[in-house]
Amino acid sequence: TKSEPLLKVSGLQAWYGESHALHGVDFEVRAGEVVTLLGRNGAGKTTTLKCAMGMAPRREGSIRFDGAETIALPSDKIARRGVALCPEERGVFASLTVLENLLLPPKIAPGGLSLDEIYELFPNLRERSTSMGGKLSGGEQQMLAIGRILRTGARLLMLDEPTEGLAPIIVKQIGAAIRRLKPRGFTVLLVEQNFRWASGLADRFYVMEHGRVIDAFAAAELPENMDKLHAYLGV
Ligand code: ATP
Repeated sequence: TKSEPLLKVSGLQAWYGESHALHGVDFEVRAGEVVTLLGRNGAGKTTTLKCAMGMAPRREGSIRFDGAETIALPSDKIARRGVALCPEERGVFASLTVLENLLLPPKIAPGGLSLDEIYELFPNLRERSTSMGGKLSGGEQQMLAIGRILRTGARLLMLDEPTEGLAPIIVKQIGAAIRRLKPRGFTVLLVEQNFRWASGLADRFYVMEHGRVIDAFAAAELPENMDKLHAYLGV
């Protein structure tokens, strides 16, 4: 029997004021998958994640999470159902320590990782646990931003450009951590410009253009579709 996907987005439209950003976005993420949204700047990837998190802008259509409609819910209600967004700007508190940052978000559901488990995934965070958030490198901040949502019990982790501006070694570490989340029951929806990195990580890919999903690929279909992808992404 085919169960409903964990996240199912259908006919999603969104507006920033008068500006029509999403024109009917369709995709789904099954429990346990890592799915990546690809597309050029301005295609609507960030807006799609924001909509799934119940954040601005105005939205219409359907966003089903775990079998229930969430399109009209505010973000705190969506968070309590087990959805978390790690935004591009990371949101680390500069004047709190790493440990304080980790302990800040409330637990919304059972099943989140313990501090020890988070430190195991990101050993740099353990070493830096008493450092102020503002003193961290970009890579450490990204690890902290991801680590922080792992504690909460959220099952769907949406990560917006987690590798942006980071050194290759850190990018590798973040990839390794995401790979280890999969067998622990987390589901990951990534927005990523670094196609090479994402291609080693995700089970499936959707390509967005002008506020729509225009194509989809499973990881195994990538090799025979590289020309198409290069054309879509301009890489
Ligand atoms: P990027 O990688 O540059 O963030 P993206 O694919 O995530 O690109 P979005 O940020 O979702 O794209 O933007 C989609 C469209 O919405 C773009 O045309 C963008 O200009 C517009 N947009 C995004 N944020 C706002 C905003 N705060 N106000 C008005 N328009 C916006």
